[in-house]
Amino acid sequence: MIETNGPLTTGNAHYLLLAILLFLLLSPGGAYSLSTVDITITPSTFGQGEVSLVTLKQATGEPQMIWLGKRIPMVYNRKIEVWAGFIGADLTTDPGRYKLQVNYTNNAEPNFIPITVRSKDHGIRRITLPREMVELDRDTLQRVLREISTVKQVFMTSSEDPLWWGRWTRPLPGTIVSPFGCKNIINDMERSPHSGVDLKAAVGTPIKATNRGLVALVAEHFFSGKSIVIDHGGGIFSMYFHLSHISVRVGELVEKGDPIGLSGSSGRITGPHLHFGIRLNGRRINPLTLIEISKTLE
Ligand SMILES: [Zn+2]
Repeated sequence: MIETNGPLTTGNAHYLLLAILLFLLLSPGGAYSLSTVDITITPSTFGQGEVSLVTLKQATGEPQMIWLGKRIPMVYNRKIEVWAGFIGADLTTDPGRYKLQVNYTNNAEPNFIPITVRSKDHGIRRITLPREMVELDRDTLQRVLREISTVKQVFMTSSEDPLWWGRWTRPLPGTIVSPFGCKNIINDMERSPHSGVDLKAAVGTPIKATNRGLVALVAEHFFSGKSIVIDHGGGIFSMYFHLSHISVRVGELVEKGDPIGLSGSSGRITGPHLHFGIRLNGRRINPLTLIEISKTLE
């Protein structure tokens, strides 16, 4: 965590002033053309497990962000003429003030923008499951460990260039049956928090890709059942669990809204639904927040 005394505003923050100030300091009276860059961060303060949209106007060359030690590529949106990218905080990111580094011209000094991550309580969910689904025998435990390592491996190799574009969309319209981020108390024992959102879906409901990307994993796992992971490039992955049918193969390029399978009740589950999750540069973020804040990119 980096402490900063920089200016912090809530809502949309404009850093035009900083660019003008730098220009005045560096070129008194010179005949330089002022290259202004308008950076918007929506919101500039967000909670653990949440995400923010960063847009940048009038950049010369391809801008780049560095957030919590990771390089984040930006995507140019021709329709509204902005570069866009997302920054997020994991459920376990320490609350506090951080700096977002933005480089937008070749050889120019980087900009450091203060961002506040606040603590967020996502609530508690209590579940009762049959003992054999919770207390795993040796073979099942080994299977689960192998599956965890497989998924970790998938998250480590994202396509460097972003494949996603514009707004992010819902994989199906269903209402929320279990929210993102809640603490899981299973048979009175605290387990990992809920890493996605559960959406109501009768078995056989078509599931659509939330954005463009490459199918990175197709598997049948103990906990998540029939599962798909899509790599959207630039470190963004989407996950679709508990399916009854999968209609894509690993390595296949899917467009936003393409059907990828049918919802179901496979894996460790108490009733049919779709578990939908997003990983953003290794961080678990609320997928519905990503969909909400990306609406302006349409
Ligand atoms: Zn779930």
